[in-house]
Amino acid sequence: MKSRFTAIALDDYIEKHLRANPDVSREDVRARLEFAIAAHKAGKRCSCGAEIWIVGSAEAGLSCFTCITGEKYPSDDYEIAINQSAARQ
Ligand SMILES: [Zn+2]
Repeated sequence: MKSRFTAIALDDYIEKHLRANPDVSREDVRARLEFAIAAHKAGKRCSCGAEIWIVGSAEAGLSCFTCITGEKYPSDDYEIAINQSAARQ
């Protein structure tokens, strides 16, 4: 993997997200992230052909990092560590 994202476990990301966004419901965040994870696992791609960015796709619809942020590469951006979250199930 040559991803420059910072990998984070699903539960850890949800905690961070809720701390930064206290008005958001935990169930809602989890459902949106799990939807994006399922799409990623199913091989869903951004309209530009790149892999979707799960964290951003949970907020902005199923798209890649560049299409969501307008930036070429992630710097301090998180991405869900899919293998870890799958192992927990
Ligand atoms: Zn894209």
